[in-house]
Amino acid sequence: MDKEQNNLIVIAEDSPTQAEKLKFLLNSFGYEVAYGINGRQAFELAKKYLPIMIITDIIMPEMDGYELCRKIKADEKLRQIPVVLLTVLTNSKDILNGLECGADNYIMKPYDEKYLLTHLQSITANRHILKEDQLKTKIDISFSNKEYSISLTRLQILGMLLSTYQGAVSKTRELINTQEELNTLNFTLEQKIKEKTRDLLIEVDAQKQIEEAIKESEHKYRNLIENALVGVFSSTSEGEFTFVNEALVNMLEYPSMLEFTPRKIQSLFINNKNNTDFFNVLKKKHQVKNFEAELISGTGKKKIVIINAQLKGKTFSGMIADITDRKEAEEKERKYREKLFVAKEEAEESNRLKSTFLQNMSHEIRTPINAITGFSGLIADPDLPDEQKKEFISNISKSSLNLLSLIDNILLIAKLESEKIKIISEKCFLNRTLADIYTSFQKDKNKKGKGSIEFKLKTGNKDLDFAVLTDPSRVNQIISNLLSNAFKFTHRGSIEFGYTFSSDREKDKNGKEIEFYVKDTGIGLSEDQKEYIFERFRKVENEKEKIYEGTGLGLAISKKLVSLLDGVIWIESEVGKGSTFYFTIPLQVIEKPVREIKKKITPAERISLRGRKILVAEDNELNYLLLKAIMTGTEAEILCARDGIEAVESCMVNDDIEIVLMDICMPNMDGYQATKEIKKIRKSLPVIAVTAYSMNDEQIKSQESEFDDFLTKPVKPDILMDTISKHLLKRNP
Ligand code: ADP
Repeated sequence: MDKEQNNLIVIAEDSPTQAEKLKFLLNSFGYEVAYGINGRQAFELAKKYLPIMIITDIIMPEMDGYELCRKIKADEKLRQIPVVLLTVLTNSKDILNGLECGADNYIMKPYDEKYLLTHLQSITANRHILKEDQLKTKIDISFSNKEYSISLTRLQILGMLLSTYQGAVSKTRELINTQEELNTLNFTLEQKIKEKTRDLLIEVDAQKQIEEAIKESEHKYRNLIENALVGVFSSTSEGEFTFVNEALVNMLEYPSMLEFTPRKIQSLFINNKNNTDFFNVLKKKHQVKNFEAELISGTGKKKIVIINAQLKGKTFSGMIADITDRKEAEEKERKYREKLFVAKEEAEESNRLKSTFLQNMSHEIRTPINAITGFSGLIADPDLPDEQKKEFISNISKSSLNLLSLIDNILLIAKLESEKIKIISEKCFLNRTLADIYTSFQKDKNKKGKGSIEFKLKTGNKDLDFAVLTDPSRVNQIISNLLSNAFKFTHRGSIEFGYTFSSDREKDKNGKEIEFYVKDTGIGLSEDQKEYIFERFRKVENEKEKIYEGTGLGLAISKKLVSLLDGVIWIESEVGKGSTFYFTIPLQVIEKPVREIKKKITPAERISLRGRKILVAEDNELNYLLLKAIMTGTEAEILCARDGIEAVESCMVNDDIEIVLMDICMPNMDGYQATKEIKKIRKSLPVIAVTAYSMNDEQIKSQESEFDDFLTKPVKPDILMDTISKHLLKRNP
């Protein structure tokens, strides 16, 4: 190889990567390359190949770049080979050190392709000068307190200067490039910041909107809770309220939130068990669903509520709904249904009883009517002996009275049930009333074939003038009913009646009751029978008892009358041994009664009616004839009026009429109106109502109207005569 004409460059580089990179570039420019990993190897290579250039790194092991350079420049054969230093040129000392060691040029790291090529081209182009210019200039300089002795040819100095300049230019370009890059980067960054800022602003905006939405929903939620119809609360697990809404305060009737919140939830429960159950379920299941509880309101009212609650950690919260009204409505409906059911049962029972009653009634009515019609037919026989005639007449009369009593009872129970009966309380001489009843039953006893039965009256007070305030006729009616039964159902032994003062009875501690009793040694009643005999139309039904007559009304009437008198009735009885019926009335003693006993008229005292004018106002021919017949023996003068108008006219024409017997129900003008008219003309003329109505209300009507007295049909001759006598005596004693 022609050593002068070769194209080889020796590289000294300890980093194989850097060496390869440089080699690759140099090869691409058309140079051949040989490299050593330090100065020493490179020196050997230079000696061997005499390259066109040596490019050396500065810091290397064994022999650094400066030393290699010095050795090259000291070598006669090699000194004209340009030595190029590879430097980062960060320190001015590097240049001075380069100049001092005799380097020809340097390449600044990092180098780019273009810079390297131009640099190498200019070195190789000026290489011949290096050979020719051997005249060295020696310069001693001091730099940064260090002495440098530089001995170089002009070309070397120029090369170093140029490469420094080139390096500076390259660096400046690099700086400009970097600056441009920085600018671009800065611009991009600014753009990005702008974009980011915009994004952030949008994000902030969105965040704001979300916050507002949350605030609004919180507001709505709070509003909802505050204005909710159900009570909302939260509380500690100990039951201390931490929040309650208005609805709860209002529901539990507290005047304000401040007065409500200090109390514990436990104190609101009415009963302890309810309270314990609630907290037990809550602790166990951490929630309570549809728990029904009774709470006490601030005004002391019971509130039925449904509670739903949840326990979270140490607090629980929930809702309370007031269902008091609903519960009350349900309860009302339940009671109403119960009542309906009872009413339906009663209606069915009453229906059944009515059928039985109709059967009984038919029997009870037919029996006396059968007797009446039968015996009436027989009496008509002219050959009938007087004795039998008397017996038949007595039978007819008994049957008629039975029929009458039956009709009275039916009417009475109907009136009692429609609450048309009024109690007329007045002074009642109790012992006298009971004595009268005793006399009447004692008289009948033998007639009824009960002569062997011992009959007694025992009064709790022996004073004949002992008087109480009550309705004497009703007391009489009840006792008579009970005595009739006692005689009916007793065949031997005794019957006793009377009264005590019930102060020793537990049910009346005040001792303000009279307790009547009717005791017999009759057939008695079983427990079952005792249950129902006070219901209307109820009779003890068994084969044996069928022999007893009766409609099953007497006790029902008695029970209703007792209750109207503010008392109670009950029975103690044993089958086969007998029964005792008791009833009470309030004891209202009339103190120091005035002795004004109604004077009873004896037959001897009856006034003579001979020649006295009596007007009978009666539209029914038979009834008129009956009254006339009763009075036939008295030789009174009987006038007749067929209606109210005739009666008034008769009184106007005949001013010597001394008494009027007035029917009430008549055509054209009734008895009330006629009496009023008569009283207008003759105020003192006694008018006695004679009516088929036997009820008390009619009596009241009679009292309200201007009647002087009242007689019930069928009129008993004795009573008629007594009443007429009484009023005539009053007028003309
Ligand atoms: P009546 O006697 O007209 O049938 P009551 O209402 O007076 O109707 O009596 C109802 C029923 O009570 C009677 O049919 C009878 O079975 C029973 N009873 C009433 N009083 C007595 C009594 N003193 N002893 C036994 N049973 C009686």
